[in-house]
Amino acid sequence: MPKYSTGGAGSGSGGQTCELCGSASDSLRDANVAGAELTVCPDCASHDESPQADSDDGDDADADRKQRAVQNQAKQFDAVTSGDSSHWEEEGTNYEADRLPYLVSDYGERVVRARQDAGLQREELAEELEIDESDLLAVEQARATQANVGGSVIAALEEFLDVELSDE
Ligand SMILES: [Zn+2]
Repeated sequence: MPKYSTGGAGSGSGGQTCELCGSASDSLRDANVAGAELTVCPDCASHDESPQADSDDGDDADADRKQRAVQNQAKQFDAVTSGDSSHWEEEGTNYEADRLPYLVSDYGERVVRARQDAGLQREELAEELEIDESDLLAVEQARATQANVGGSVIAALEEFLDVELSDE
């Protein structure tokens, strides 16, 4: 009879070993390890419980991550299907409502000169007219069209500085 006979049925030895660590023990018990019923020693039985708890937590975290991923995908899908069109509609609306007039070729220089004549720093003038300093800078650098400066900014500058910027 081989010494390490599996099962040992009929051998009469009576010795049982832990199915996890292989050590012999008189007090083996059944434990559910990763969904499998195993006969294990007390040591392994106690060890088994913590990994099991950990894996449960891990599953929850995985589920959360998956749910978040699905939600993110949904948001991205929304952005692709509806976001783009609303973006264009919005830009078109602004463009129509605050359309930049045809500007004289040296409108930037005219604004700089008029502002300096008025003794104002760029940020002071922007604050006075309640416009973005970046918009004012764009106008002074003759980048109004590229910077999407609104026609109302030009109108405010014309009125406040008493200059002609639009080319009628
Ligand atoms: Zn064991």
